Amino acid sequence: MNPHSENSLPDCIVFDLDSTLAKSKQPIENQMATMLTKIVEQTKIAVTSGGKLEQLLKQVVDQLPKDANISNVFLLPTSGAALYTYKNEKWTCLYEETLSPKEVEEIGNAIRIANDKTNTVDFSQKAYGKRIEFRGAQVSFSALGQEAPLDEKLSWDPTRAKRSSLRNALAPILTEYTVRIGGKTTIDITKHGIDKAYGIRKLSEYLAIPIEKMRYVGDELGEGGNDEVVIQTGIPTRAVTNPDDTLHYLETLIKKT
Ligand SMILES: [Mg+2]
Repeated sequence: MNPHSENSLPDCIVFDLDSTLAKSKQPIENQMATMLTKIVEQTKIAVTSGGKLEQLLKQVVDQLPKDANISNVFLLPTSGAALYTYKNEKWTCLYEETLSPKEVEEIGNAIRIANDKTNTVDFSQKAYGKRIEFRGAQVSFSALGQEAPLDEKLSWDPTRAKRSSLRNALAPILTEYTVRIGGKTTIDITKHGIDKAYGIRKLSEYLAIPIEKMRYVGDELGEGGNDEVVIQTGIPTRAVTNPDDTLHYLETLIKKT
């Protein structure tokens, strides 16, 4: 990428959510809300995550001031399996790929088989909320449950070893699907071809903004990370380490314009 394009404000900035805009499953902090409010005065943004629409609303949109220009905010929940825009004062679905009940059952069974094989979690132990959640186009397995406290999640699998072994046991059973590590305790399963890269291509098409004029900001762009898949679209990327790092980067973008 040439230095000029790196420094100018892109026509659309696509953000990963967890560990990029917010701490895992937490609402964005005030400083980030203020910064995003400034950014959407000047350009479009999109937020993508393995979570459902409700999760993106709760973590990001609900934290923005009432007068923020949310017509410039686009949401790509469930790893890009759906796209939402704010129109006529409500969130409107532009597309959504969904799994059939039979597919959901098949995936649920495979999770139990792979889990038994790898001894990852004991299903008889109580979890924080659901362990297996159906999110429209995606099934998500959260080892400690959807509502687990952040500190427990962070200490559960710091080396990714548990998630990797579960992922590796699941992939050969679910050959029709993409099985990937999502959050800190999560495995996300979608149909082949539905991922953050798919979401970015659809967004580019809908906005009529060429992908090279967009930018992707994420904390897991490295090998095996859950943002890595976007690189194949050719979108210019900016790797960050945490929400504070993202904030610094956005400050430099705004200063240059
Ligand atoms: Mg992330």
